[in-house]
Amino acid sequence: MPAILGSVLDAVGNTPLIRLDRIAQHEGLKCNLLGKLEFVSPGGSVKDRIAKRMVEIAEQEGKLIPGQSVVIEPTSGNTGIGLAMACAIKGYSVIITMPKKMSLEKEAALRALGAEVIRTPNEVASDSPESHIGVALRLQEEIPGGIILDQYGNMNNPLAHELTTAPEIIEAVTSTPPSQVHPSSGKVDAFVAGAGTGGTVSGVARGIKKAHNPDCVVVGVDPVGSVLALPASLNEVGKGSPSVVEGIGYDFTPDVLTREPHMIDTWVKTNDTDAFAAVQLLMRHEAMLVGGSSGSALAGALAWLRSDNGREISQTPGKNVVIMLPDGLRNYIGKDWFLDIAFRQEPSPLAKRIAEVLDLS
Ligand code: PMP
Repeated sequence: MPAILGSVLDAVGNTPLIRLDRIAQHEGLKCNLLGKLEFVSPGGSVKDRIAKRMVEIAEQEGKLIPGQSVVIEPTSGNTGIGLAMACAIKGYSVIITMPKKMSLEKEAALRALGAEVIRTPNEVASDSPESHIGVALRLQEEIPGGIILDQYGNMNNPLAHELTTAPEIIEAVTSTPPSQVHPSSGKVDAFVAGAGTGGTVSGVARGIKKAHNPDCVVVGVDPVGSVLALPASLNEVGKGSPSVVEGIGYDFTPDVLTREPHMIDTWVKTNDTDAFAAVQLLMRHEAMLVGGSSGSALAGALAWLRSDNGREISQTPGKNVVIMLPDGLRNYIGKDWFLDIAFRQEPSPLAKRIAEVLDLS
């Protein structure tokens, strides 16, 4: 990479892969647990990658016309932030439709980047005209130059991960030599990611299995209430119940989520409680200020590693298990689940001692 970049778009991706040794030890795992830390990307999430690619390809195909096109996108927020970032640089107007449950912090970032933001009801089905997808479609019909790049159906979404996220993970793992302290198989042995559109898990699965290790175990993580997991019987418990974690889970299967056999090998369902407990582990033990879906991915990974299918990998020194950490705390700093972590904990022995010393009651 050149030392001086042309714009923030040139800084998208190339995120670090970081050892989660303290969590591995805490959980009694012998394998290497590695986190792909996406919040260091300029828009703050893994979705910068697909936003950049969808805009660039649409420009090349002549679908985006400077001075005319208005980019419209239904999103849980992060794709919107990536698109608003790309469009601020390139000079396109942007309209983002987003369910009410998504954080105010995301809306604030979107507005700061110049996007118009429309909130839609949480409870409606995705195929309703009132949903974030329905409203975006209605706007596309009426707004001159309106174009939905469509992360749910646009193959440049998974392709961005096949062509950038997967090669970065493979390069990091294969270029790090094994050592006495850190044995390594030299391969990506497992990859774990939550699914929203499913672009990340599908694209990385393809990239790793086709170009590196066909035997890599790919684990999809789906929140309780969503219908993305297979076999579908996994989705029966709590079907339709809302989850607080943002960005993962849907009531329909997006086209970009691969159903090719042997691509996503197994699915794990997660709940909010376990996800936020896992966020706290990442914050306290690894000093990673991540968002809720990173907790879901870690909670899903730990559940799988403890299961009959994952135990062998978990107990084999040198096996490399990569966990996707899609976004960061910036998106959630005022959310109750984070305020619980920051302020509503049992006082530590040190806090109690301070209270005694300062005579605080
Ligand atoms: N986590 C967060 C915070 C997200 O915004 C998204 C994207 N909706 C995901 C995970 C899931 O990514 P994907 O759409 O590639 O499945």
